Amino acid sequence: MFTRFFGKRKCFICKKKLINPSKYINDAGASVKVCQKCVPYAERRALRKI
Ligand SMILES: [Zn+2]
Repeated sequence: MFTRFFGKRKCFICKKKLINPSKYINDAGASVKVCQKCVPYAERRALRKI
């Protein structure tokens, strides 16, 4: 599963350390975590919130 690969504590978008991550599903259907700062960006990229 890709979940494991993406499951590291880094933001899917900016790759920085996550503090209060939000979970999203990316285009490939894998779950990714996004930091608070990148949430608007994730929304714009039409990632689906879990
Ligand atoms: Zn981020």
